Amino acid sequence: MANSEFTFIAITPDGVQQGLVGDIIKRFEQKGFHLVGLKFMRASENFLKEHHIDLKDRPFYASLVKYMHSGPVVAMVWEGLNVVKTGRVMLGETNPVDSKPGTIREDFCIQVGRNIIHGSDSVESAEKEIGLWFLPEELVNYKSSAQDWIYEGQEGRPQNFPALPRFSSKG
Ligand code: UDP
Ligand code: MG
Repeated sequence: MANSEFTFIAITPDGVQQGLVGDIIKRFEQKGFHLVGLKFMRASENFLKEHHIDLKDRPFYASLVKYMHSGPVVAMVWEGLNVVKTGRVMLGETNPVDSKPGTIREDFCIQVGRNIIHGSDSVESAEKEIGLWFLPEELVNYKSSAQDWIYEGQEGRPQNFPALPRFSSKG
């Protein structure tokens, strides 16, 4: 069954500045997820307004955009079985104070407004976010031999498509 999923994960400027890039990538690698896209960039305020458009009516929207624009981010696409939901579990709760030990936000940060990482909250938002942050040619299609040991069958396993699916930022 070819039901592999993709999610968009970004290490935010506070995570980059605290030297957490390696630790965070390591967790997704160790879990067994498959890295298909990665870039280091400083996003413009307009771009970040679009990325967080669902939060435009929240009181913290302007400060969130400013914080996201305050430095570089590491933008990534990870693939695997249930990667959207599992990625959110690995991140922890939005507010680090509510996050469980062993999650990224519990282990590495303290305040909600400096919670070091973004992760897509649904398959639909993942598709939209991947389409916004990555051009199709920036996603890399390759076979990882480790998958033979991570998955017992075909279910949810990265498919090494002839071409990766196209993600549309039009949502
Ligand atoms: N945020 C904030 N104050 C709040 C809620 C959220 O500063 O009261 C920030 C926080 O950095 C969070 C981001 O806005 O990660 C996006 O909010 P969302 O509700 O989407 O949380 P997430 O999906 O990141 O857990
Ligand atoms: Mg969110």
